[in-house]
Amino acid sequence: MFYTSYLEISKSALIHNLSFLKNHIRKNVQISSVVKGNAYGHGIEVYIPLAESCGINHFSVFSADEAFRVQKSSTNNNTIMIMGLVEDEQLAWAIENEIEFYVFEFDRLEKAVELAKKLHKKACIHIEIETGMNRTGFSQKNIGKICQFITQNSAHITFKGLCTHYAGAESITNYYRIKKQQKSFQKSVQKFTDKKVIPLQLHTACSAAALRYPKSQMDMVRLGIVQYGFFPNKEIYIEYLTKKKITEHPLKRLISWKSKVMDIKTVKAGEFVGYGTSYLANSNLKIATIPVGYSHGFSRDLSNQGRVLIHSQRVSIIGVVNMNMITVDVTKIEQVQKGDEVVLIGKQGDLEISVSSFSEFSDQVNYELLTRLPQSLPRFVVD
Ligand SMILES: *Cc1c(COP(=O)(O)O)cnc(C)c1O
Repeated sequence: MFYTSYLEISKSALIHNLSFLKNHIRKNVQISSVVKGNAYGHGIEVYIPLAESCGINHFSVFSADEAFRVQKSSTNNNTIMIMGLVEDEQLAWAIENEIEFYVFEFDRLEKAVELAKKLHKKACIHIEIETGMNRTGFSQKNIGKICQFITQNSAHITFKGLCTHYAGAESITNYYRIKKQQKSFQKSVQKFTDKKVIPLQLHTACSAAALRYPKSQMDMVRLGIVQYGFFPNKEIYIEYLTKKKITEHPLKRLISWKSKVMDIKTVKAGEFVGYGTSYLANSNLKIATIPVGYSHGFSRDLSNQGRVLIHSQRVSIIGVVNMNMITVDVTKIEQVQKGDEVVLIGKQGDLEISVSSFSEFSDQVNYELLTRLPQSLPRFVVD
């Protein structure tokens, strides 16, 4: 095979996380697995069949290109929901393939009906309401007009969902803003109810909201980060541990990132290692090169900071992260050889490199590090 590093995706970890979620999501609430950003870096083509085999049958993406990849990777008849962009030229494809999509402007609503008529197929829409995030969503004052339009075109529209998104449910500093959004959403729901235009589902919750504000779960939750084994941020993690009086991380990371030692050599005391002068060897060193760099998603911020595991020992990155390579100090590992396994994320022996340890050095949140793992890295499902 042709690659310099690879990702392993653990099935047993996913099973574990889904059972954790089932304990926190009320009965009869649908779980939508959010797989935007290449399934948070886990790889859509690998993740969809895996999630299906664990009982997931609803997937949410950002855009039509991702929906297309989810559809191609599906073996079951899953529901696919686009939460962001569908362009006019993709809309016919979406309607024809029963892909559900958010609508947050009138021109898309009109276009959807126009195409639905032509295709003799109903467009399955989710109306997104602006409640305070101020990103996308119809403002409340449009609800009358939306209801009128849906009523007039009910032969061509399935009003599947009414939804909104919270502006940072993972941080308690946003508490009042989230509460205001919840009130605003309820008001919108009431307006639709008054007009007797009733959506099949109400949904507002991402991972943080589902855990912190259980009432936000409604009929469906859109869960991204937790299914992959991460809390949305440290705050939600600590809050969870405290509330449950536990000390162990209750989720399991699906992803591991591995490579191999590419070369080993020695450096004399007084020499610099790699580009420039950021690392000076204070003593004679044995160094190993590893064929992973910032082009593979390994941040340059980890220069002279990051750690990897080799022979079940933690070793330091010395010098700057290159485009395709890093250099580590393996002086203390006598038996190290070219070809030995290197763990960049994950476990080796008793040690582990977590994704959050990266975040500390590189100021990347979990989400960013994961989604920046290139699509070209091969991903293998392991037990
Ligand atoms: C990304 C996203 C989610 C999932 O967020 P997580 O924090 O990963 O659970 C839910 N809803 C919308 C609209 C999103 O964009």
